[in-house]
Amino acid sequence: MTTVDRSGSTSKSIAQLQSDVANFVSDRDWEKFHAPRNLAIAITVEAAELIDLFKWSADRAGIKKLMPGLRDELADVMIYCLSLCNQLGLDASEVIEAKLAKNNTKYPVERYKGRWR
Ligand SMILES: [Mg+2]
Repeated sequence: MTTVDRSGSTSKSIAQLQSDVANFVSDRDWEKFHAPRNLAIAITVEAAELIDLFKWSADRAGIKKLMPGLRDELADVMIYCLSLCNQLGLDASEVIEAKLAKNNTKYPVERYKGRWR
């Protein structure tokens, strides 16, 4: 399902993206390669590619220059996260909502606003 946010831009729901990722993998018969362990490793590799963009040049180059690479690597991380949810039979939206609820309990605003501990 496509939604319109406050800025007027359209975007797909997480459920639709999770389904798109499942179809992408299935169309290529890649499920056999997408064992949870392999996907967890792939997430870590893609996260390393993301952080690698900041290595050495980030402060001087500025974030704008890094944006194309950041977009790609963020997408890679999120796509593998959605694929891992698919392989584990998890609803990505539900997983995120549940963890945000835990975080809200763990880090109440009145105690943590402007503080990290
Ligand atoms: Mg990548």
